[in-house]
Amino acid sequence: MAAWTRSWSRVDFDKPGKQVGAFNVGHSVHRSAYGVVPVPMTVIKNGSGPTVLLMAGNHGDEYEGQVVLARLIRTLEPARVQGRLIVVPCANTPAARAGTRTSAIDGGNLNRVFPGRIDGTLTEQIAHYIAEVLMEQSDVFVDLHSGGSSLEYMPYAMAHVAGPGPEARATVAAMMAMAYPHGIVSSGVTQSGTAGDTAVARGLMTLGGEFGGRGVVEPAHVRLLQRGVDNLLAHLGVVEGPIVPGDVPTRVVLSGTTDSFVFADTAGLFEPTCGLGEPIATGSMVGWIHVPEDPLRPPVAQHAAMGGTVMARRAMGRCEPGDCLLEIARDDATDWT
Ligand SMILES: [Zn+2]
Repeated sequence: MAAWTRSWSRVDFDKPGKQVGAFNVGHSVHRSAYGVVPVPMTVIKNGSGPTVLLMAGNHGDEYEGQVVLARLIRTLEPARVQGRLIVVPCANTPAARAGTRTSAIDGGNLNRVFPGRIDGTLTEQIAHYIAEVLMEQSDVFVDLHSGGSSLEYMPYAMAHVAGPGPEARATVAAMMAMAYPHGIVSSGVTQSGTAGDTAVARGLMTLGGEFGGRGVVEPAHVRLLQRGVDNLLAHLGVVEGPIVPGDVPTRVVLSGTTDSFVFADTAGLFEPTCGLGEPIATGSMVGWIHVPEDPLRPPVAQHAAMGGTVMARRAMGRCEPGDCLLEIARDDATDWT
């Protein structure tokens, strides 16, 4: 089955039923010569069907997915499953425990080091196990993100595809089943080090999204994601259940180009002048950066390079040059259906 890895688990991937366990990544330190960092992992298997790998806490301060996947582990009866779920609710566990984006142990950003390294840092070894052992035996990969501490998103689901074709249509249909008001199709694979790029490159149907943020657990966002994950698993036929439609059809928008983002051009306090979901025009002013420590200095206006809908906004007041202030998306002209 899997490639050789230094990490290990007592979970038997082929055993029917529900096994709540972990995979263990070696962490030999002064306090613990033979210590490991356990990364929680649950396998729920019954009958026959696809294997779906569900992951949250890839960034430790992105909470909505962690809440939804932990609840799924507690409540899902194996009898309702046809196939197998592998659920990793807080993938970068040292980051999740600390409530930070990156690892509290080695500073690693898990979603920049895929497919990991067998002899790498702790974070790289977590990525290596997920890529070489978990993705290797999965058909579908679902990675649940949000804006974390520094960004607040208008939640959207995402289909990550290699390019147009029947696989892309199937992935977009699965994204639509998540019933979000907005969806983004990310097309193409880059050497970004993300889990999503790695999964697409390895031929897995890959889904994700940005489901909230601001470093809080927003109940409305958790409810939307709960419905989204339940709908997705029902659509894939791996968990029985109804597909509950959204209030509005999913609008597919395009983001991810350099012009989609507004970056701070000076240090100070960002005061946005546009709200989440608002339409803005190309070149329009989107906020001010104030410098209260130099009170006579006039605030500096910030502008959008691209018009569209505001999908994300900086959630922290202070900013440094290069910090992301805003993400903008516009309608996707491609017919993905
Ligand atoms: Zn993230």
